[in-house]
Amino acid sequence: MGLVTTKEMFQKAYFTSVMIDGSQYDFEKNVEITSQVVEYAHEKGVVVEGELGKLAGVEDDVKVDASDAMYTHPDEVQEFVERTGVDSLAIAIGTSHGAFKFKPGQKPQLRFDILEEISRKIPDFPIVLHGASSVSQEYVKIIQENGGELADAIGIPEDMLRRAAKSAVCKINIDSDLRLAMTAGVRQVLAQKPAAFDPREYLKVGRANVKELVEHKIRNVLGSDYKA
Ligand SMILES: [Zn+2]
Repeated sequence: MGLVTTKEMFQKAYFTSVMIDGSQYDFEKNVEITSQVVEYAHEKGVVVEGELGKLAGVEDDVKVDASDAMYTHPDEVQEFVERTGVDSLAIAIGTSHGAFKFKPGQKPQLRFDILEEISRKIPDFPIVLHGASSVSQEYVKIIQENGGELADAIGIPEDMLRRAAKSAVCKINIDSDLRLAMTAGVRQVLAQKPAAFDPREYLKVGRANVKELVEHKIRNVLGSDYKA
């Protein structure tokens, strides 16, 4: 989404929070872009999440190869937060955008040492993880068995996310998991009932999957039940 469109949307105040990912640019350019968004947003009472450190994978159609991915430098976080005025900060400690994070057999590792160093540099500042889906093998299998063409992939193990959620990390983005759950439900119904054409019918199963997944994540992974 271009900055102009974003600005227009702020003026109409369609939302209360936004994320701006300038991490594909160098530090200075990231500060510049993020600061601009913060300026528009704060004027309208909208909070902003910035991103520092490059995640592998695909976000907003920008693809970053694993070889170009970079962990967040703990030495840069304080300056970034102060100069941009962001309200929360997404960091790179080994997660990856999208559904194809790691091939089966690879061992995803989160760098908890970097996370600890960052939270020492900016104590009490809300830290966020993007690209933290676990890529449920159950849903990948359902999609593959019902006409989908998903490559085998694994995500971030839930026990690592549980550990991160107990630290300074206060938000964990798991969009791919939700997409997979919805797609698995829709594909299953359409494969079993080729004559079905009522979205109310096939979306219902997708929605039930999403609901079940969200309940599980809130209770067992994020530990955010009864917390607003
Ligand atoms: Zn991101």
